[in-house]
Amino acid sequence: MGGLGSGARYSKKDTVEECRALDTADLKRWNLLVPGTTNWAGSFRWGDSSVSYRLTVGADAGTLRLMYRMTGASADLDYPVRLVTTRCHLGGARWWFLCPLTKDGTRCGRRARKLYLCGRYFGCRRCHDLTYRSRQESDARVYALARAGLSALPTITGASVAQLGVALRALTVLENRMTRRAR
Ligand SMILES: [Zn+2]
Repeated sequence: MGGLGSGARYSKKDTVEECRALDTADLKRWNLLVPGTTNWAGSFRWGDSSVSYRLTVGADAGTLRLMYRMTGASADLDYPVRLVTTRCHLGGARWWFLCPLTKDGTRCGRRARKLYLCGRYFGCRRCHDLTYRSRQESDARVYALARAGLSALPTITGASVAQLGVALRALTVLENRMTRRAR
């Protein structure tokens, strides 16, 4: 067993919107990241699901212990997530989670503003291999347009900025293909 998160499989299709997320900006907004906080108990809720937590915050680091049970599971999950800060150049501190997931025996430990619960554990976007749905949808349009070829491109007059953006990326795809072919 490689530890936390090992062996879990995630679909490439998972998108951020389908996963529950924790955001340090929310924690800050909810006044949870107050130095001196010790073992503060609470819960995060999304609709009818919830995750209990215990929070300890120091001057520039903290620990968020997460406790929850997946639907249909018989045991609770219970593990700590480290919180750290970096200085902003305009003063003040920015809070980050350190991703708690382990992949192939190596702890991720990446700094992340958001951790996503996809599968059983919270982890950073990279670990969960997430893509934003909007990006996926626009990629699908870009490739459909590139497949259809130059004649399918919209004329500049009357096209919206978004349409032109997709058209431009489709052109880049076509250009890259031609460059590859020419080599
Ligand atoms: Zn990670």
